[in-house]
This record gives sequence, C-alpha cells and structure tokens, in this order.
Amino acid sequence: MAKKKTIPEPKSRFLLVKCKECEHEQTVFGWATRKVICDVCGKPLTEPRGGKAHIIGEVLQELS
Ligand SMILES: [Zn+2]
Repeated sequence: MAKKKTIPEPKSRFLLVKCKECEHEQTVFGWATRKVICDVCGKPLTEPRGGKAHIIGEVLQELS
C-alpha cells in the first residue's frame, strides 16, 4: 500500500474570495485551472500554478 501524501489542495468546491483591489466579493472555483479575474476591476483573483489555483485575493469562506 502506497504511502499517501498529505498535500493540501483545493477540491471541487467554491471559495468566496474578496478582491484586494476593490473589495468585491466573488465566488470562484477552488480548482480553477484558468486565471479568474474580478468582475468589477479586472484584477486577477486566482492564478494557475502547476495545475492548482493560487488564490491571490483574500479567501473569506469555503463553500461546500
Ligand atoms: Zn476587484
């Protein structure tokens, strides 16, 4: 039985992210593989890194 690594990674859930630029709160997919931009100011909220979403904004809540 292979040893399972415990790497924290986003699963199929949504995150409520607050834009650091304009404080707009937006729901983004936690497993986003594309850049997600703020609906209001166009600043990136997530940035794909190695297949995982790097959250740039402030994560307020995880929505299951
Ligand atoms: Zn914004």
